[in-house]
Amino acid sequence: MKICTFNKKNTKKIGLIKDTSIIDLGILDKKFNCDMKTLLINWSDVYEDLKKIDKKNSPHYTIDEIKIEAPIDNPQKFLAMGLNYQKHIKEVEKRGVSVSNYQLWFNKQVSCINGPFDDIELPLVSDQLDYEVELAMVIGKKSRHLTINEAKKSIAGFMICNDLSVRDWQFRTQTLTLGKSFDTHGPIGPCIVTQDEIDDPHNLKIECHVNGEIRQSANTNDLLYSCFDQLVYLSKVMTLMPGDIITTGTPSGVGVAMNPQKFLKVADKVKCIIEKIGFIENTVINEKNKFM
Ligand code: MG
Repeated sequence: MKICTFNKKNTKKIGLIKDTSIIDLGILDKKFNCDMKTLLINWSDVYEDLKKIDKKNSPHYTIDEIKIEAPIDNPQKFLAMGLNYQKHIKEVEKRGVSVSNYQLWFNKQVSCINGPFDDIELPLVSDQLDYEVELAMVIGKKSRHLTINEAKKSIAGFMICNDLSVRDWQFRTQTLTLGKSFDTHGPIGPCIVTQDEIDDPHNLKIECHVNGEIRQSANTNDLLYSCFDQLVYLSKVMTLMPGDIITTGTPSGVGVAMNPQKFLKVADKVKCIIEKIGFIENTVINEKNKFM
């Protein structure tokens, strides 16, 4: 299944994507008249009902009648892994970055979440905006101290994330948080593709294009730590909650590692594509200072 959040007449609703139509779940059944996080909190109860829904008897829209939003905009956590593709590790080691023997985790503040087709801002305070296409997991079950097998079952589904990074701010401190958390720098989507549609998350083509030029092209089989390893490790520390977003690291080809370096500029179109999930595409605009 592909589940999404969409906007119709300035109201955010959840939908089920069937072919090229979006079924309005809130109209279909009042128990679905909720946001994505609430749906995921009840995931094990609603999953079978959702599977039975068919387009013929359901209110639905075409893509032109609605706007697709970030699938979830209020997770409790938005965690991101650094240095998890082996070729990407080599490219950063060349730049003198030392690589830990442990999984490297940082926070993206949830306020950076952005829609899959919305504009992304070139910050007022930097010209070092860079792209990072990533496979992101969405948690569907409250979990702690997961085993590998349990980890697999704790994932509701997958989506695409562009872990946009402001490199000068990122490297000022070891936590990375500020450089990874500028407003608009967490576009996700276009929908959550449920786990049953992706037989192996570790064998998916993953690409990032800038203005049609391929910058990153890899397969998730290059991941150093698998999706399940990541959840086992994180859940040793914290309770993972339904709706949490865990993004799994980016392949090689980032702009900061190019020679000469190539950062994103205003009007650039950044398209992130993952096999079996789809694509998100965002255009770079100048940050508008909303308080002046
Ligand atoms: Mg990243």
